[in-house]
Amino acid sequence: MSLLVVGSVAFDAIQTPYGKVDRILGGAATYFSLAASFFTDVQVVGVVGTDFSEKEEQVFRAHGIDISGIVRENGKSFFWAGEYGENVNEAKTLDTQLGVFAAFNPQIPLQYRKSQYLFLANIDPVLQVNVRKQMNGAKFVGGDTMNFWITGKPEELAEMLKTVDALLINDTEAKMLAKDASLPRAAQKILKLGPKALVIKHGEYGATVFFQDGAFGIGRHPFRAPTLPIEVVTDPTGAGDSFAGGFMGYIASQDKLTREVFKRAMFYGGVMGSFAVEDFGTERLQKLTREEIEERYKTFRELTHID
Ligand code: AMP
Repeated sequence: MSLLVVGSVAFDAIQTPYGKVDRILGGAATYFSLAASFFTDVQVVGVVGTDFSEKEEQVFRAHGIDISGIVRENGKSFFWAGEYGENVNEAKTLDTQLGVFAAFNPQIPLQYRKSQYLFLANIDPVLQVNVRKQMNGAKFVGGDTMNFWITGKPEELAEMLKTVDALLINDTEAKMLAKDASLPRAAQKILKLGPKALVIKHGEYGATVFFQDGAFGIGRHPFRAPTLPIEVVTDPTGAGDSFAGGFMGYIASQDKLTREVFKRAMFYGGVMGSFAVEDFGTERLQKLTREEIEERYKTFRELTHID
């Protein structure tokens, strides 16, 4: 099964209490595709500038990721600079330079349109809806958004929410979207807007999924997955996108979406997020092996399981 992701491919400058990098491969679609590549075939649609070189392409190719849908335009790739203090769940944006991303209008190549799994990473909800329309045969669609769109384009975002099966956002965004300070109440309000499942990420505390009644024939009770208590979070950038990659990648690798599959997908999401934060940028994901993933999955089970 193949999984298509549409989103940012970028260069990042990152500062955390553990160090600083000036220019490193990043972008939501980058983290997502690397994480998902351990589970299924992944295709990326994005845009980069002339500064995106063979070295960056090789990172994707080494993981068998199909990047023929990444368009190269004259100009610079999206650039994001962020800083984290002691609170690893909160990035402070220092700079955003859209570059060629400003005119991004994703066209899905014909050979990708048969993909049954689609992830709409955090981009303008108008573009997300356009992509969704081009992928009308998709069986399971995940989506992300951020505070910028929640406050800036609420009507367009409402249209996007009608088109996704699962929305993956963090708890602050969920409360902001629902205009409700109670998370379970916010979740119920968001589920009424469209998504059958709402996966709320709690940063270093794990993630919770809420379902519409009867969703996928499996939904009813919420389910919470852990993450690993890690002493040193070197760089939290991309944890959310890596979670989404593990989650969607695992679902795409399974024949049927059962409740067990959904629960395991939440665990694999947490596993991928926990690896992503161990080093700057995508460094840890680049070196990762499937054996290490399974090993950590067992640790996650051990962390939460009782007989
Ligand atoms: P995350 O930490 O999972 O929320 O995602 C971090 C990644 O998102 C970084 O690698 C950035 O390049 C990328 N990013 C930051 N701001 C934006 C934005 N406005 N639109 C799309 N991608 C972004």
